[in-house]
Amino acid sequence: MDFISQFAVSLDVILGEEAGMIPFHNSHTHRVPEDDNEIAIVNSYPGKSCFIENAYLSCGIHPWHVNDTWKEQFENLPFEAKKNSVLAIGECGLDKLFVGNFRQQIEAFRAQVTLSETLQKPMIIHCVKAFDELLAIHKEISPSQKWLIHGFRGKPEQAKQLMAKGLLLSFGHRYNVETLLYVASTYRCLYLETDDSSLSIRQIYHQVACHLSSGNLG
Ligand SMILES: [Zn+2]
Repeated sequence: MDFISQFAVSLDVILGEEAGMIPFHNSHTHRVPEDDNEIAIVNSYPGKSCFIENAYLSCGIHPWHVNDTWKEQFENLPFEAKKNSVLAIGECGLDKLFVGNFRQQIEAFRAQVTLSETLQKPMIIHCVKAFDELLAIHKEISPSQKWLIHGFRGKPEQAKQLMAKGLLLSFGHRYNVETLLYVASTYRCLYLETDDSSLSIRQIYHQVACHLSSGNLG
């Protein structure tokens, strides 16, 4: 099993969240876990990652930080990302709503995909209004590593398109409920995350459990 698959939570576990002492897998967060039962991938930036007890890290250059200095930021990344505590490359990706040089975002993203393939570590991806470009790169590179789209808010049709290409989707506090139910009924498991929300991973599990139990899971 690859590293990222350990963060896929079965529906039985999510629906049993009230039972209490289960580990809460958090596939993407910007906060150090405060809950002893939380197993998290904490986001870090090259040059700023550190060891966090009981947590894994991801390390990458966020598209909002991509500018003329991205190559300098990238210099530290291979060294940091090699560490055992770093489970994934990211968050990185493409964001068309961010006012910046989209061409540079693509260059920085491609460099991080190459690193992910070299180190054999999966990607945690931030993608806003750039799924066509993302899929084009995915098709061209045909990566061996898993790509996890974090904070997915798209509609079921878009989820279906991404899942057909083997991409994984992770859900935070805001999502399309229909999409959540579609992904849950297809895979019988979900990736859940807090990202930068003020909600805890327990609260996210609880919110998702409520939607799962009131929805049609097929
Ligand atoms: Zn994030």
